[in-house]
Amino acid sequence: MLRISDRLNRIKPSPSSMAGQRARELRAAGRDIIGLTSGEPDFDTPDHIKEAATRALTEGKTKYTDVAGTPELREAVVEKFRRDNNLEYKASEIIVGTGGKQVIFNAFLSTVQEGDEVIVPTPYWVSYPDIVLLAGGVPVFVDCPPEKGFKLQPEDLERAITPRTRWLVLNSPNNPSGATYSWDEMKALTDVLLRHPHVWMMTDDIYEHVLYDQRKFVTPAQVEPALKERTLTINGVSKSYAMTGWRIGYGAGPLELIKPMVKLQSQSTSNPSSVAQAGALEALRGPQGFIAERTAEFQMRRDAVVARLNKIPGIQCHLPEGAFYVFPSCRDILGLTTRDGKCIQTSDDFVLHLLDTEGLAVLQGSAYGVPPFFRISFATSMQMLEEGCDRLARACAGLT
Ligand code: PLP
Repeated sequence: MLRISDRLNRIKPSPSSMAGQRARELRAAGRDIIGLTSGEPDFDTPDHIKEAATRALTEGKTKYTDVAGTPELREAVVEKFRRDNNLEYKASEIIVGTGGKQVIFNAFLSTVQEGDEVIVPTPYWVSYPDIVLLAGGVPVFVDCPPEKGFKLQPEDLERAITPRTRWLVLNSPNNPSGATYSWDEMKALTDVLLRHPHVWMMTDDIYEHVLYDQRKFVTPAQVEPALKERTLTINGVSKSYAMTGWRIGYGAGPLELIKPMVKLQSQSTSNPSSVAQAGALEALRGPQGFIAERTAEFQMRRDAVVARLNKIPGIQCHLPEGAFYVFPSCRDILGLTTRDGKCIQTSDDFVLHLLDTEGLAVLQGSAYGVPPFFRISFATSMQMLEEGCDRLARACAGLT
């Protein structure tokens, strides 16, 4: 029998990928499924980006590139950080990977030793704990309760730091909660890290441009320049430019960190796709106006969905500040019984009930470390969202 490594046995498949797959399978089997699990914009990649990639193909840009990305793309990333975040990096301090996910993977695999701790504010993006575990580290979860806007509190961060802490991983706007940090809130967190020079900051800024109500985006190295020499700033084109399938993300940090990450990438995937890099170059250097238009559309959907959800008895939904998810609580539903006599004890039971009775696919809060919640993606049409809310209301009304 094939023996699976202990390393792999420590992790589970990505719950969001699995949920998407389950919805596709049920649909293929003839069920009428409304899928609200998607972690990607429903918009298409803009034409000017597609054209740049097509041009790259016809010009024969189909060979290996530098492992860390083409010099042009790394230069465009340098310009992006200067333009949007007031951060100065050299091209040698940039790594381009196959999605932001690979950049996170490279960083943890390069720096986390057996037993090292990584602070993961909860709710968290599903992959952080598993990548830490794969690297041999220990995820240390710090609760960010809804009463505190799902935001990491400086005193809770301070309490979680031990001599074994290697990283804090911060994600703003947050998937799944939509929480973001103002300048002052971010400064309070960076002040804590200034007192603990052995702790590095990983900031996952992938939803930077999906930000509502005229909020201003801030990133830790910009707020506290003294922390820049131990900060890895991660971003990518997946969410802002509707390019999830292209698989291009990037990270910026000190050379002492970027170099081992490039070494690891040189022995795993090598460079990310040359054609996708050409598309990403156009994304970063080309017109940016469509991003605000799309964010305005997301904001309209957010407002409609939150208003609708809060009218459903048993459901409470806060207003997300960014990203394209709502993360309502189903706490008041727990303990109720379905028509066929099953008790809904957990949000996992609730999510299954939605799928069974109404063909509505959403994600259970346990995947994000917060059991009595569930995640709905509003990166889909208003029509689908309305139908999804109708089904949710019916499924709740059927419980006693
Ligand atoms: N970080 C967060 C918070 C995400 O939600 C995602 C994708 O869902 C990623 C990173 C990975 O993005 P990419 O497509 O760049 O790998």
